[in-house]
Parts: sequence; C-alpha cells; structure tokens
Amino acid sequence: MIIARTVLELRASLDSQTGSVGFVPTMGALHIGHRTLIEKARSENDRVVVSIFVNPTQFLAGEDLSKYPRREEADFKICELSGVDILFYPDVSTMYGKDEVSIKGPDVRGYILEGASRPGHFDGVLTVVMKLLNLVRATRAYFGKKDAQQLSLITQMAQNFFMSVEIIAVDTVREKDGLALSSRNVYLSEIDRTDALKLSASLKQATHLVMQGVRETNEIQRVMLSILQPLNVEYVAIVNRRFEAISEVVIGDTIVLVAARVGTTRLIDNVWM
Ligand code: AMP
Repeated sequence: MIIARTVLELRASLDSQTGSVGFVPTMGALHIGHRTLIEKARSENDRVVVSIFVNPTQFLAGEDLSKYPRREEADFKICELSGVDILFYPDVSTMYGKDEVSIKGPDVRGYILEGASRPGHFDGVLTVVMKLLNLVRATRAYFGKKDAQQLSLITQMAQNFFMSVEIIAVDTVREKDGLALSSRNVYLSEIDRTDALKLSASLKQATHLVMQGVRETNEIQRVMLSILQPLNVEYVAIVNRRFEAISEVVIGDTIVLVAARVGTTRLIDNVWM
C-alpha cells in the first residue's frame, strides 16, 4: 500500500498504476462500515484509493473537530489488510489555501434536516468531496446510506457539474443489536449506548408499521417519537428520495430519518423503504 501525503505523491502513485479506480473518502477512525465500502470498491475496481481527512470546513464552530477520533496507526493497518492500493492522507494545508472558491449546497435540500441542524455543513462536505474526486480521478466513489442526505447531495453535485464519476450507495452496517456503526460511537458511555439503541429501534418500528400496511407518515412519526423518549430529538423526518416531505409512504421511494442527541453525542440514522 502506498501512503500519499501530498498532491504530488498522490498523482505520482496514481500515474504508476492503470485500470479503474474505486474511491472511498473517509474521516478515519475506521470501522466495519468503512471496511464494507472498501470491500465493495475492491470487488468492483482494479485499484482502490481511500482518503483519510478530517475536513475542517464541514464542522461548525463548537462542534467536535478538535476531539474527532484520530487513529492513524490502526487506520493504516485496516487499509492495508483490506487491500487498499493507495491511502491519501493529506493535512489541512494540502487541501485548503486562503480565500478559496467553494461549493454551496442547493438552497433547499442543502439546508433542511442535517443542513438545518448544521447550517453550512454540506457546503464543506461538497467542497472537500469535489476536491478529492478531482484529485483521485475515480471511476466509482462509494458513500454510505447512513449519511443519506450527504449521499443524495453528492449524487446531485456529480450530475449538476457533469462529473464522470459514478456515485455508489452502500447499505448501512450495524452492530448485532441494531446500532448503526459510526466513528462517533466511541463518545458513548455505557448508559448512552443503551439509549442510542432507541434510534434504530424507532426505525425498526417504522419498518414494522409499513409492513403492516400503515402509510400515513404522521402516524409513523408519532410512534417513532414515543419510542425515542426521553432523548433530545432534533428531527424525525419521512421524505422521498429527493428529500421532499411526504404524507404517505411510497415503497421504493421513501427514507425515514432520525437525528437525536444521546448525552452530548449527536447521532443520525435512517432506513430506506
Ligand atoms: P465518515 O468517515 O464518517 O466521514 O464516513 C465515510 C463514509 O463511510 C461515508 O460515506 C459514510 O456514509 C460511510 N459510513 C459511515 N458509517 C457507515 C455505516 N455504519 N455503514 C455504511 N457506511 C458508513
């Protein structure tokens, strides 16, 4: 595995190999969710590039940028064992200069749900993903459905900017008890972790209701909110794949999303129907 820390090193290592490139951008503290993305990239491409970069522009003031988990040694090992060809591991000065051009999310879809709770977050995400995709020149790039709104906006950016990369969605990987894997789970105390299960439990119940024939989104939201008690819920939303609010679930075109604070940790989860 080649570790490239600069743009020059990345370009040289990309030029030294041929074939399709599968790219998995991450912020590190790698877990089985990330590994699943890497494995999918491995199985569909000649080469796999992973980036690890804790992108400062997607964190708002007061968020966990400085304490975001960093696990350099373990991450390098995971990448190596997962068959990654090139690991791009830049520092902030490699990725950003002063007074730069940046990408802004769409006025509505970039500023609802996650974008409302974290205004400007997606502008930072889209800007860094654009930079990374241009650097890596990926054939395919892999993103988790766990970050459903992010995935949707990146797919839209690739279309709006006529980018040739194919954006691939990967199912959410969960612990046995249902908790969606996340680098932020390390912040959870033992009690928090039990509380955190309410997110996946509420989504499971939403799926159950839909399987029983319930379609009214108000009713599903009401039941979910009762399961989520007494967490500090930021939103429970039921939208179509374009992230428009809907009053009735349409199978094949619905995403149910939840965001809540568990202790001091903000968690998100969703289910695609
Ligand atoms: P992050 O390092 O949190 O920025 O995540 C990097 C990529 O991994 C993103 O595309 C995430 O959506 C994806 N990801 C994170 N957690 C999971 C999970 N539990 N299952 C599947 N993909 C995930």
